Amino acid sequence: MFHVKHCLDDTIAAIATPLGVGGVGVVRISGDQSIRILEEIIQDFPKKIEPRKIYHSWIFKNKTPIDEVIYYYMKAPSSYTGEDVVEINCHGGLPILQTILEMIIKAGARQAEKGEFTKRAFINEKMDLAQAESVTELVCAPTQKGAGYALQQLQGGLSKITDKIRKNLMSSLAKIEANIDFPDDVEELNYRQLIKSFKQEIKQIKKLISTEKAGKIYRDGLATVIIGKPNVGKSSLLNALIGEERAIVTHLPGTTRDSIEEMFSLKGIPLRVVDTAGIRKPSDRAEEAGIGRTEKQAESADLIIMVIDSSQRLDKWDRMVLSKGKGKQGVVVLNKSDLKTKISERELKSMVNGFKIYKTTAITGQGVHELIDGVYSHIKGLNNIGSDTSIAINARHKGCLARAKDALEKAVQSCQSKAPADCVTIDLKESVIALGEVSGELVSEEVINDIFSRFCVGK
Ligand code: GDP
Repeated sequence: MFHVKHCLDDTIAAIATPLGVGGVGVVRISGDQSIRILEEIIQDFPKKIEPRKIYHSWIFKNKTPIDEVIYYYMKAPSSYTGEDVVEINCHGGLPILQTILEMIIKAGARQAEKGEFTKRAFINEKMDLAQAESVTELVCAPTQKGAGYALQQLQGGLSKITDKIRKNLMSSLAKIEANIDFPDDVEELNYRQLIKSFKQEIKQIKKLISTEKAGKIYRDGLATVIIGKPNVGKSSLLNALIGEERAIVTHLPGTTRDSIEEMFSLKGIPLRVVDTAGIRKPSDRAEEAGIGRTEKQAESADLIIMVIDSSQRLDKWDRMVLSKGKGKQGVVVLNKSDLKTKISERELKSMVNGFKIYKTTAITGQGVHELIDGVYSHIKGLNNIGSDTSIAINARHKGCLARAKDALEKAVQSCQSKAPADCVTIDLKESVIALGEVSGELVSEEVINDIFSRFCVGK
């Protein structure tokens, strides 16, 4: 464990905008040498550069013009990283950006590692660890709601709560320690009061822990699988769902030859939907493998949408589809409801394991709206989404909070059994440390490196 204060004596640089084609591209430099490097590459550099003022000029390499740019300077410590920062805005073509970056590196900067700007912001105490983590969550959030959660955390929402709990525990700790050290000078310990206050903090911590599911969904999307026999309308339904929402759609590289994965927003909840191979008697080995994969995807999915063609009689493959939902979160969709139905509701109800049934006509969109509403309230109810808190923690926070809670529960037990006061202090200290790890008060270098290695270069 260490309290992070590194030597940050080199100057780093990176392309801060996505590596594609864009109207504008940004190269960012941070460190003591930023201004000197800028001076080396910018044409007609002013005698004195003022912070937070926009300048216009050209960059030349060996007398050949590279680009017309604007640039600005943010003086330490009033910058993102807490160091001298310079940003050059050029035209957003990769060759231009790369040439400028190469010139900066030649002038003495080092290529920044992943997340290194934000890491420096953390080291220079511009933000705590939970805030730093939220930067990548904010830029990667697939929906506005997810971005809202990340922004809340960037403003210090989570750390404010954990720091308050931590301070309360530290004040109890001080009281107990005074009682151990100076038993004659201070009031006798009131165990009942301690238990009451610890239980309140446990309740708060549990509330935070319960937001992890929502956090995971908003970050990664809810893994959703649409299963059914071939031709029941799975693809049509996926198109209808996406069309109805008219929201973000990201084509993710399919994990298998037979499946397409798309991310779309269902009323602000990102769903990662896999459109799978149809379930039926396989006609060859490739199809058999495809069906096997579908079954695996169904097993690991968070939500299963089981599609049945209502214009056909139920057969053993439909039953197999319905059996995949057992013990899982899911809904049953009776598609092709525009055609004459051949399925009796009674027969179906006896087989659907209590799942809600929705009738749709995927090709016209009939019933799709109701399906979206139903799935939305289903997900919301089961995953603690939209509860009164605007915090959605990640797995690392959950680990720290669970340790803090367990230690505090032990402290309650020790108080209840009137154990010696130093037993209580051991657990309290453990809880205080674990809470401090959320905001990065005391964390190991490995944890920090692990967090920032998940960032992209330029952040
Ligand atoms: P998948 O193999 O399960 O993905 O099924 P598709 O979405 O490819 O649909 C198979 C066929 O059923 C296509 O010809 C669709 O136009 C048709 N279809 C899909 N949904 C409906 C529906 O609700 N009603 C009717 N009448 N036809 C549909």
